Amino acid sequence: MSLKPLSFVFILGWVILAGVSGTPHAVASDLKSVRKVLVVGIDGCRPDALEAAETPNIDRLIKQGLYCENTDILAARGTKGDTVSGPGWSNLLTGVWPDKHGVVDNSFKGSNYQDFPHFFARVKEARPELKTASFSSWPPIAEKIVSAADTSVNAKALHASDYLKADDELSVAAAKSIREGATDVVVCYFGQVDETGHAHGFHPTVKKYVESIERVDGYIARLLEAVDERQKSAGEEWLILVCTDHGGSGTNHGGGREKPEIRQVFLIASGPLVKPGKTSEPTYQVDVVATAMAYLGIKLDDTWKLDGKSVLEITRVVEK
Ligand SMILES: [Zn+2]
Repeated sequence: MSLKPLSFVFILGWVILAGVSGTPHAVASDLKSVRKVLVVGIDGCRPDALEAAETPNIDRLIKQGLYCENTDILAARGTKGDTVSGPGWSNLLTGVWPDKHGVVDNSFKGSNYQDFPHFFARVKEARPELKTASFSSWPPIAEKIVSAADTSVNAKALHASDYLKADDELSVAAAKSIREGATDVVVCYFGQVDETGHAHGFHPTVKKYVESIERVDGYIARLLEAVDERQKSAGEEWLILVCTDHGGSGTNHGGGREKPEIRQVFLIASGPLVKPGKTSEPTYQVDVVATAMAYLGIKLDDTWKLDGKSVLEITRVVEK
């Protein structure tokens, strides 16, 4: 980048002005106040099926962002968590592994969300002014995992047997809430990809499975439209994280510790502080919370005992 002398003078003047007119603390909090986070969760989405699917919206996030291709759903240290949704979403949403949050299967027996809550609780502890919202079509998220949510939509509760309707509806509700400027930290979970995998098979050659990913991409379009609008009209800066809880093999994914098609997933981070590209650095489900917190300027409190690391720190990337 080359600067013309005039713009240099202008920038210098601006820096001096900013220096005298506000404390460094005020500058930092102004910066923080435009930062928002959207976490999109797609249950049971294999990376190779995502690759096979026509997903222009997720592709845009990958193109503009960081694609972590080596994301593990299990801890490097031994824990008893199975490769199913209960522990998976608990890892993703609390930022700690099953030996801390206590959820090892879908019974949720032994859960310790008291000591290791949904990260909304930590967000509120550090920045109580931030509004949090959870939209989900898997009832245990709203009923068991979520805490400190200003808004919590349990879409499946309204459409007991229909994930398609539930996902569709929750994406409309989430987009509305973003568009209205009602939320700062949003989690939006879609359940139909996992449901379709259980019915027809988790594999990139299974048409119905791939089509379910494409439908979810259409719902994500709504969220991105709302985010784009806010970025233009209100100067907000959104970090978007896309994640999944497990892959699948045949029509199942439980007991998949030894199966890479179940255990190895992806993580996408797209936004202002992200170094774009593809990385094979080891990343983990618990990194989602650490990344969201880092972006929001929230220093991790040692007493929270979070397990993850922010992917914003990853700088060794290759072009996609
Ligand atoms: Zn799942």
